[in-house]
Amino acid sequence: MVTFSGEPNMLVNITPTYKRPRMPKSLRFDANGEYSTEDKMLIKRLSAKFKIKKEYKCKKCEYVTLCMGELLTHHRLNHKENKK
Ligand SMILES: [Zn+2]
Repeated sequence: MVTFSGEPNMLVNITPTYKRPRMPKSLRFDANGEYSTEDKMLIKRLSAKFKIKKEYKCKKCEYVTLCMGELLTHHRLNHKENKK
């Protein structure tokens, strides 16, 4: 799964190819300006226009952040290892 970063609610037109007649003609970023897809062709096309949003996911809970520093802070505050 790749999440792209764009404008909130932005509509993006997609030119269909003969290889992929069922490809949607357009897609829309959500209210947060995000669009996620697993479609490799879409990812290839979108990556030419949009930035891939990097997410750092906590391995111990559902916490997700866009900033590595925040994840480290989250870890320190929420998953403190028992230190001797
Ligand atoms: Zn966590």
